[in-house]
Amino acid sequence: MTPIAAKPSLMPFAEAPGQPLTKQPITVLQLNLGKRCNLACAHCHVEASPTRTEELSETICQQLIELIQRFPQIETVDLTGGAPEMLYGFKPIVEATRGAGKQVIVRSNLTIYYEPGFEDTPTYCAQHQVRIVASLPCYLADNVDQMRGQGVYDASIRALQWLNRLGYGQDPSLLLDLVYNPPVPTTDSFSLTPNQVKLEQDYKVFLRQQFGIEFNQLLTITNLPVGRTAFHLQHKKLYQPYVDFLATHYNPATVKDLMCRNELSVDYRGYIYDCDFNQMAELPARTPTGELLTVSRFLEAGRLDLISEIQTAPYCYGCTAGSGSSCGGALL
Ligand code: SF4
Ligand code: SF4
Repeated sequence: MTPIAAKPSLMPFAEAPGQPLTKQPITVLQLNLGKRCNLACAHCHVEASPTRTEELSETICQQLIELIQRFPQIETVDLTGGAPEMLYGFKPIVEATRGAGKQVIVRSNLTIYYEPGFEDTPTYCAQHQVRIVASLPCYLADNVDQMRGQGVYDASIRALQWLNRLGYGQDPSLLLDLVYNPPVPTTDSFSLTPNQVKLEQDYKVFLRQQFGIEFNQLLTITNLPVGRTAFHLQHKKLYQPYVDFLATHYNPATVKDLMCRNELSVDYRGYIYDCDFNQMAELPARTPTGELLTVSRFLEAGRLDLISEIQTAPYCYGCTAGSGSSCGGALL
C-alpha cells in the first residue's frame, strides 16, 4: 500500500528529528518469510491470512543463510511473517543462525502449534534455544478473540502453558516475551500506548494467578497506520486524525533507539527495507545514489553499510510518540 500524504499542516516526519535519520552499524536482520498465516487478525499490518501464498524461495533462503554466516556483525536474526513457523526457510534459517552462535527470535502467534504438521514447533524451538516473542494483545479473553478470532485466547493460554512446561519463561536460555498491541481506534478519542513496566506487572499477576503462566518481558507495540490498521482507520475517517495525534506526541528522545537504525528488513523476494513497516508500505531502502537493494547486492558488495539515510513516512510518528515503539517494545 502506498503511504498516504500527510496534511500540509503536519510537519513531514523527515524534518521532525532536525537532521536526517541515519543508519548505524547493522546488528539485526529481520526476515519476513512470507504472508501466509493461520490467522487473519483485524490489526495485521502484513495483511496476512491462510489464503496468502507469498513465501521465501529456496534461492533467497540460501542467500540469507550466506549473509548470516558471512557477517559477524549480525547478532540477531528476527523471523516474522505471516506465521514464520509455517513458511519455507524457517528451520534451515534457525539452524544456520544458531550454528553461527547468533540469537534467533521467532514472532509467534502461538496458535500455529495446534495446526496439523506444526505440533513439534515448541519442542523444536526449545531444542534450538529460539527466543519466542508471542502475541497476546490483551490478558483478557474477550479483547483477544475480538482482535484475532474466536478461540484464539484459549489456544494462546494453552500454548503458553506448554512452553512453560518446556522451560520457557523460567530457564534463562529459553526466553519467552509477550507482545501487547492496543486495540485499533474506533473513535477520535485516541490514547498513547500504556506504560510498558506497569502493564507488564498487570499481565504477570493476572496470568500467574489465573493460569500459572510465567514469561520474561512484555513488549508494548503501538499500532502504526499501515496495512489493515490503515484500511480500518481510513474506513472510519480516522487516518489523518490518528497520524496528527501521534505527531502531537512526538518525543525526540526516542529517535536514537529507533529499530530502523541498526536493522535490515528483508522480504520474501530478498528486497531490503529499513523496517517491517516500510516493507508493508512498499517503501524500500535506498543507497545514497537511489539504488534499490537486495540480499545478493550485499553479498556482492561484501559489506552491510550500503544505506546511509533511512526512508521515512508519516506513520513513523507511531514509533516516536510518547515512550516510543519498536519490535522490541517501548524505547524509553
Ligand atoms: S497479526 Fe500476526 S497472527 Fe495475526 S494475521 Fe498478522 S501475522 Fe498472523
Ligand atoms: S516506521 Fe518506525 S522503524 Fe520504520 S522507518 Fe519509520 S521510525 Fe523507523
